[in-house]
Amino acid sequence: MAKFIRDRREFMGLTGAGVAGSVIAQSRWGQALAAVTPQEPDLVVFNARAYTVDPIAPQAEAFAVKAGRFVAVGSSEEVQSLIGPRTQTLDARQMTIVPGFIDAHNHAPGAILLYEVLVGNPYDVEFVTIANIVDKLRARARETPAGFWIEGFFFDDTKVKDQRPLNIHDLDQVSREHPVSVRHRGGHTTYYNSKAFELAGITSDTPNSAAGTYDRDSSGALNGRVTDRARGVFEKVGKRPRYGADQRLQRNRDAMSFISKQFVRYGLTSVHHEGGDLAALQQVRARGDLLHRVSYEAIDDVLEAMIKNGIATGFGDEWIRLGATFEHTCDGSFSERTMALSEPYPGVEPPYRGNITTTQEDLNAWVERVHRANIQVNCHANGDVAIDMVLTAFERAQRVFPRPDPRPKITHCTLINDDLLRRIKATGAVPAPFTSYGYYNTDKFHFYGERLMRRSMAYRSFADAGITAAAGSDFSPGPFAPLMGMQGMVTRKGWNGETWGANQRISVDEALRVLTINGAYASHEEAIKGSITAGKLADFVILADDPHTVDQDKIKDIAVVRNVTGGNTVYQA
Ligand SMILES: [Zn+2]
Repeated sequence: MAKFIRDRREFMGLTGAGVAGSVIAQSRWGQALAAVTPQEPDLVVFNARAYTVDPIAPQAEAFAVKAGRFVAVGSSEEVQSLIGPRTQTLDARQMTIVPGFIDAHNHAPGAILLYEVLVGNPYDVEFVTIANIVDKLRARARETPAGFWIEGFFFDDTKVKDQRPLNIHDLDQVSREHPVSVRHRGGHTTYYNSKAFELAGITSDTPNSAAGTYDRDSSGALNGRVTDRARGVFEKVGKRPRYGADQRLQRNRDAMSFISKQFVRYGLTSVHHEGGDLAALQQVRARGDLLHRVSYEAIDDVLEAMIKNGIATGFGDEWIRLGATFEHTCDGSFSERTMALSEPYPGVEPPYRGNITTTQEDLNAWVERVHRANIQVNCHANGDVAIDMVLTAFERAQRVFPRPDPRPKITHCTLINDDLLRRIKATGAVPAPFTSYGYYNTDKFHFYGERLMRRSMAYRSFADAGITAAAGSDFSPGPFAPLMGMQGMVTRKGWNGETWGANQRISVDEALRVLTINGAYASHEEAIKGSITAGKLADFVILADDPHTVDQDKIKDIAVVRNVTGGNTVYQA
């Protein structure tokens, strides 16, 4: 972050010390952040309880916005003195205002939400029955020709009223003529019916590998559950609808508009997208339907095009910018209990340590190639074994090709220990642990036990070690509501009343930083957003209650009254 010293009047944006009364800060890419005079702003918000997340003046009563940026922050009296004839005003009536929330890891699956069969609630804790899942899929099968896939999404194995695992026999009841799958919302395990196994050529004799398993019941028969890379063979069989290029673009545009509306309802103003249709994203923005800012994390063709053509992280503008890479997957899942542990999973027979989906050699090569291209590396690592591998690759890449402030991103970075913490700090890596699991997924924490949960989603350890950790919902795996995330970080108490790893609690102010400025830091954008600071983008959220004073078990229920991105209201309750 560019270092600049500001006194109180500079913080206000009222000083002449910049250029002709303007506030100038330099971002990492050297662009001037704001050269706008605070006189006659477009908007003045006053009589607020604003938590700025700016250490120079953490609280304010008022701020002014001009040309999409904050131009003054201070007392109501000071800021109201700037009001001119064309200035809009908003009396916040003592409501709480915070910087717009930033989600540093999100799959933004708008197309799934719009077009697919949802067998679980994407946004909140809700229990379903296996009979209900079967009914929903049957209805889809009735209108689908034989041989085509029937797929269910957003399944959560610990949100099922039946209290038994979903299995191959349940899915055989959906159809024996269609391949049927139910995908766990965690993204690393899928349940299949007999037809799907038949098409994929998988039998109870097919061996498992280190990268994935075909699970069996106690008699040795396939039970339907398949983990991580073992699912690859299923992707190649069965029929799926084909769309022409125009139709595909149309669907992706509609999906992107849809999910943008969902994000801003919950107070998000910036989201780090895992891939997605970049053309559709730009068209949605062009037609004015993109309500949130996107840090686009590239994979496949887009990443290859970046490397080939010298397009580095940071290319783009304040609405759509190329960020780190798509998460490069190194191990399994926390929620589905396939992440790579240095010790066997408690109580699992035969002993199982999770799945590793890369070799150290391949990982080293991938990281070095991306790092040399001046692209921010991003690896998915949940278990301590995978985090160790990722750090080994980062350390090596910096040795062979040192570059300043690369901020390699560790998506999830779930289970840490003291040595990993030290190496994360030393490499300047940015962890993005799960945002909402501390509330939403406590029903899975007993699979790991208190000893491991004291080292998981380790927001306290990161803060104490001076590591900048951002918040990544990983949606669809976790709900993306930032206030649900804050409640879990602050209380470590779940929807079921259970508390695990209470030593990792952080304060409301620390959680607010994680959910705002740290997210901006994770994409090298902390000089232009993440706090209510004169010169930065005017992204803020008005809340019906103050998370500092409300009952901590009700933080997630605080209503988002208004979401403002770049000075424009993008959501109003
Ligand atoms: Zn992910």
